[in-house]
Amino acid sequence: MPPTDDTIRDLREALEATPENVKLRRHIARLLVEADRIAEAEKELRDALARAPDDEAVKLELAEVFSRRDKHSEALVLVESLINAPETSARARLAHARLLLAAGEVERAVGAYRTAIDEDPDLEDPALALRLGVYSDDDDEAATAEVVDGKVRGATCAPTGGDDAIPVERPEVTFDDVGGMDALKEEIGLKIIAPLNHPELYEAYGKKTGGGILLFGPPGCGKTHLARATAGEVKAGFMSVGIHEVLDMWIGESERKLHELFAQARANRPCVLFFDEVDALGASRSDMRGSAGRQLINQFLAELDGIDSSNDGLLILGATNAPWHLDAAFRRPGRFDRVIFVPPPDEPARAGILEILLKGKPQEKVDVKTVARKTPEFSGADLEAVVDAAVEDKLRRAIRERKASPLKTADLLAAAKKQKPTTKEWFATARNYALYSNQGGIYDDILEYLKLK
Ligand code: ADP
Repeated sequence: MPPTDDTIRDLREALEATPENVKLRRHIARLLVEADRIAEAEKELRDALARAPDDEAVKLELAEVFSRRDKHSEALVLVESLINAPETSARARLAHARLLLAAGEVERAVGAYRTAIDEDPDLEDPALALRLGVYSDDDDEAATAEVVDGKVRGATCAPTGGDDAIPVERPEVTFDDVGGMDALKEEIGLKIIAPLNHPELYEAYGKKTGGGILLFGPPGCGKTHLARATAGEVKAGFMSVGIHEVLDMWIGESERKLHELFAQARANRPCVLFFDEVDALGASRSDMRGSAGRQLINQFLAELDGIDSSNDGLLILGATNAPWHLDAAFRRPGRFDRVIFVPPPDEPARAGILEILLKGKPQEKVDVKTVARKTPEFSGADLEAVVDAAVEDKLRRAIRERKASPLKTADLLAAAKKQKPTTKEWFATARNYALYSNQGGIYDDILEYLKLK
């Protein structure tokens, strides 16, 4: 029988007298859920979380309420904050499995479910197991390695194949080709470029050099572009590596590939070694679970630390759209010890980017400022798409009318109207991590950008 309104009212009166009583608040929230007053339950649990930010039970109950209200990404963020904590409970893993399944990430959900049940068999949930297609724990492929052709194959890593060597580029782009990002350029200048150009000065002041910079933010906002321009700025080589290119299904192969990449970069110094998708090295991710994943993470950390060989002359930059998945060990001193938010370009930066993108194209009095004003929240990549679309349209017309005409402001505005900013979706997720999982203020810049701080 659902609780009566009277019961809930009486308990709330009791709570008013002892607002710090988190257990009582949780109890009331549970009754509210039973009475189908979900929005009120959410409010009580949010309040409980504000008073007890590390309380696992509160987080799990709030996550459940979020799910019932279809706020799946908020729920996922809360549960992932538990999963990323040093001690993860089986209950949190089970909740994670449910949420991953709801998000369509079946493979990861299976991994999370199996781990939860391994740790606490009492949590077995036949209905969930059935939906996941997990029938018994005898066929635990995710945890076991199988032997194929005499090699040990870990089932959790994705195969890549192909040639391991990554081409070493000599980029011609420099900071002049990067619109906006002034603070970032300065930071990179101080941390990466100046030590390279004036090693004696740094030594004289006893300032340690080394360590990498991790850039994070919505896709298409120039992280890769900036890394490439950093290499161009110091006339260094540039190697761009997606972590998924390193992952290999053969145990031990990923570590070998990674070691060879670092060796290749050291042989080409000065060299900017740029790692994209570094979040793929998050210990919380299912493809990194198990000892094979852990070994790769450890290998990466050892390379960053320069344990076997010096990293002098090696500039290490990382980028990720999902910093919350990255193993916290990467952020220790000497590794990616500066974590920098790369926001979507602001209005002057958008004008700068447009100018760069339009360079060398036939144009007539294009007013980039007006286009910049009309493209709020557009990423650099979105602006590139706008310029491309406007150019294509011009070409089509030139062929049809047998007469070429230059690009004008109106062409760009028309193209911009058809393009949606792609950064919105990223912020919907990032906002939740910044609000509920902001350890050490790491996401303060996101809160500031969203004006939540
Ligand atoms: P990310 O690595 O953040 O996903 P990219 O660096 O790949 O984004 O950016 C995608 C494209 O957008 C780049 O190739 C570049 O042409 C353009 N772009 C993004 N930001 C800028 C910028 N600040 N200045 C000039 N071009 C930019």
